[in-house]
Amino acid sequence: MASGGHTTVIQRVLERRAAKPSTTDEGTTATVAVMVRLLQPPKALLAFVDSPLRQHMERCVTSDMLDVESVADELQAVRRFEAEFRPVVLTDSQELIRKLRALPGVRTPFIVYVAELDDAAEREAGLAAGADECVGRRVSDRELDARIRVARRIAELESALRITLEENRKLSATDELTRTASRRFFGKHFPREVDRAARYGRALSVILCDIDHFKNINDTLGHAVGDETLQQFGPRLQQVLRRGIDWVARIGGEEFVIVMPETAYEQALDVARKLRAAVSHTPFKAGKKSIRVTASFGVCGIDQVPGAEPKLAERMLEVADLALYSSKKGGRNRVTATRLKDPAAEVGT
Ligand code: GH3
Ligand code: MG
Ligand code: MG
Repeated sequence: MASGGHTTVIQRVLERRAAKPSTTDEGTTATVAVMVRLLQPPKALLAFVDSPLRQHMERCVTSDMLDVESVADELQAVRRFEAEFRPVVLTDSQELIRKLRALPGVRTPFIVYVAELDDAAEREAGLAAGADECVGRRVSDRELDARIRVARRIAELESALRITLEENRKLSATDELTRTASRRFFGKHFPREVDRAARYGRALSVILCDIDHFKNINDTLGHAVGDETLQQFGPRLQQVLRRGIDWVARIGGEEFVIVMPETAYEQALDVARKLRAAVSHTPFKAGKKSIRVTASFGVCGIDQVPGAEPKLAERMLEVADLALYSSKKGGRNRVTATRLKDPAAEVGT
């Protein structure tokens, strides 16, 4: 009897699994279709050196299909492109194609090359220069229209993919770069920590931490080095903290929050001092480069969280933020702490 019941459950699970792909597939297809439909027409750059051809293309490529800007020479095209990325480029210049492909940056446009002659050699040269698609200048309106639709579809799908990845990132509990908790996770779970501490009348402390002059690291050593520094920053904080009890979240670009349950004001101040030292004493590493980093800290500690205190989570963050602000104003690379319920006890080190 029991084994019969068991088999039925397994069968049901298997049936559900077998049925799943088609429904997920349909749902995904519908979602992508809605996203694509709601997107603005992709931006496109028309760059034609040949002026009759440029005028012809301006007439053919309508604004409901692509959001077009038209320029007459290669240099201007590169400038416009660098100022603002366009997912689609139509051009009669192989030189421009080579230049666009050589630009640094991760995003690449879909490039349609309009060749002088519609022969194999011209098309091959266009593709070798880096074009995704080639047509001859005497292409029929219908064929041009179909080619542009392909370019537009790829641009739209890439946009949909980018939006989805960004949304997934926001929904995630973990911050991908630093492997600390995400801002979203913090927003949801910090109030729960406060409620829990209030329920049992326990201590609770929170530390805000903001890297000093982080913009300088990006500006002088590059964004990638900035990213590597952030990557190492999470583990650097974790070293000082109690594993499985204290937790860290990245709540801004170079701003972190440390939540310390069962931790009273004095202990929290001590931890913040250790964190400050852990950051500043050992340089961070990016390749062969050694980067000196400091951070400023703002602590809010409560020795015994009172019950029924509305908006206490927000209040704690405000207090910690004010303390952090004092640390910044006081010269950075320092700790300022406030014991909540006794605002006079503000200690700077
Ligand atoms: P302060 O000491 O006053 O905090 O100065 P700061 O330069 O650290 O602060 P500011 O707010 O002026 O600059 C923060 C910089 O952090 C600007 C932004 O480009 C950078 N940033 C934010 N998120 C990231 C990221 O994920 N990666 C990298 N590399 N940089 C980031
Ligand atoms: Mg900063
Ligand atoms: Mg900041």
